[in-house]
Amino acid sequence: MVDIQDMPVSGRDYPRTWQQFLDWFPDDDACVEYLEGIRWPNGYVCPSCGMVDEAYRTSRGRLICRHCRYQCTVTAGTVFDKTRTSLQSWLAAVWYITNQKQGVTALGLQRVLGLGSYQTAWTMLHRLRRAMIRPGRERLSGVVEVDECYVGRSVATRGHAVKRAKKQANQAILRHTIVVIAVEIKVTKGFGRIRLQRVTDTSQTSVLPFVKDSIEPGAIVHTDGSAAYRLLPKNGYRRMKTVMLGNEKPAHHSMPGVHRVAALLKRWLLGTHQGAIRPQQLDYYLDEFTFRFNRRTSRSRGLLFYRLLEQAMATEPVTYDQIAGGSKHNI
Ligand SMILES: [Zn+2]
Repeated sequence: MVDIQDMPVSGRDYPRTWQQFLDWFPDDDACVEYLEGIRWPNGYVCPSCGMVDEAYRTSRGRLICRHCRYQCTVTAGTVFDKTRTSLQSWLAAVWYITNQKQGVTALGLQRVLGLGSYQTAWTMLHRLRRAMIRPGRERLSGVVEVDECYVGRSVATRGHAVKRAKKQANQAILRHTIVVIAVEIKVTKGFGRIRLQRVTDTSQTSVLPFVKDSIEPGAIVHTDGSAAYRLLPKNGYRRMKTVMLGNEKPAHHSMPGVHRVAALLKRWLLGTHQGAIRPQQLDYYLDEFTFRFNRRTSRSRGLLFYRLLEQAMATEPVTYDQIAGGSKHNI
């Protein structure tokens, strides 16, 4: 349940406008103070001994526990850990990312922040994408549609296309990849929240763990006739099955939620990111898409800024090599 008292307020908890952002964060000290408020809203909590008490402060922004002498900084253990980029740039990046409805590219971020290297922008963006999925978030409930879709380009198999495909094999082109989609269907009309995951195939071994991770038992899960979902009732779900036969209603009538989300996702991957995504990195993009979709009706962009910062402060750091090297599930 959301306690209305705890809802962050525009102009008090987060900047209302870009002008206000500049007023609030003139230097790194101001950013540190702000982040401390987000990380420890009820006072400093020592990460080592867990005591809640005002910490000693050193001149270099270190906090020292009065009880166990453990030294810490506000960014330790968060996505901003051990960064050489200024906190001002990080906060500006969060502001920029959450204010761009369609999402941003590393190049766009590099230009806007005037960053020296593309790699710095790329790493920042990926660290923040990682923070877009709140750990321990609530599962979907009610009526939920589940189905798989393909994203990315299909691999060419003949003649000239083979040559081109080989050439592209060394580039970051997203190939035919399966994404399983879950969408809450509102009783009245429209869609609620979504969950997405890249899977290796459409078998039960791939899709059932996704359903269990993403959907609350007791929910009505609407699927097609695939045998991969046959164990849903055994796992506490009520299955609603629409079997597609030759001349039946097309998918966008029987499963409007997944059909709509799949179309938006494909457009977004191709439009904003030109399809230039490695399959292992797709997970991060799916997280960003989910973050944006689930907050699409949020009236305040500033609130998104606050939420993403909150999640960034609760998310473990990740290095460039970890992101470039493989999927988040292996980190
Ligand atoms: Zn301590």
